[in-house]
Amino acid sequence: FLQGKRALVTGSTSGIGLAIARALAAEGAEVVLNGFGDKDEIAGLCKALGATHVGADLTSAKGCEELMKGAGDVDIIFNNAGMQHVAPVEEFPVEKWDSIIALNLTAAFHTARLGVPYMKRQGWGRIISTASAHSLAASPFKTAYVSAKHGLTGLTKTLALELAEHGVTANCISPGYVWTPLVENQIPDTMKSRNMTREQVMNDVLLAKQPTKRFVQPEEVAALALFLCRAEATNITGSNYSIDGGWTAE
Ligand code: NAD
Repeated sequence: FLQGKRALVTGSTSGIGLAIARALAAEGAEVVLNGFGDKDEIAGLCKALGATHVGADLTSAKGCEELMKGAGDVDIIFNNAGMQHVAPVEEFPVEKWDSIIALNLTAAFHTARLGVPYMKRQGWGRIISTASAHSLAASPFKTAYVSAKHGLTGLTKTLALELAEHGVTANCISPGYVWTPLVENQIPDTMKSRNMTREQVMNDVLLAKQPTKRFVQPEEVAALALFLCRAEATNITGSNYSIDGGWTAE
């Protein structure tokens, strides 16, 4: 159902973004990939999905401008690139704060600012952002991430109101823990911050949050993303969809 639509997915060389890119391509969208990784692997992905790749670093306005220039006119923008850092506030590296806010929040402002004129002209568009359960609730030692994700929901609501009469919707998807490199890589720092073993972090920190006791799968997030692109989702805008195994129900 996405034949003739062009979709940009930021941070789509891995994890959730890659699952979303695959799902969009399977529905016929022309996909623009973004993110870092092995050159040959990325070339293989482009071939498999009939996609192109713009490898811009989205922690700066300049990188975001490069991305939007390389991507061309896009009907769907999926703001998904994100990173995490786990540390007590008094030890939190200032440059980590700056880059997490830049990538997880400010990049979505830039893609909207640069991508919205085309969507308005077309009278159709979808802006979807991967927020997080941490857009609704906090966890200790994640000041930058929690702040950025809460901010992303505010940006999304504002875009929804501004674009409501232009056929353009803006929504967030908020997963709980999804088993991807982003989650796996924060285990060592969480072990340090909380003085725990790997098993304790998995069971007593990560899955303790999710009443289902299961990690969310990237494909489950992609299925929800696809629904938000459908004609039936025209009136869904300014929303933040949880897919978190019951985490934020508590
Ligand atoms: P991941 O680490 O598997 O993938 C991150 C992607 O972003 C990769 O393609 C990477 O190359 C790209 N990227 C990293 N830095 C970048 C930069 N400076 N510029 C451009 N691209 C960059 O992560 P993931 O778990 O798939 O997370 C994707 C999104 O989902 C993030 O926004 C994350 O906050 C959010 N999220 C993840 C989880 C989870 O449990 N994994 C839960 C909730 C929300």
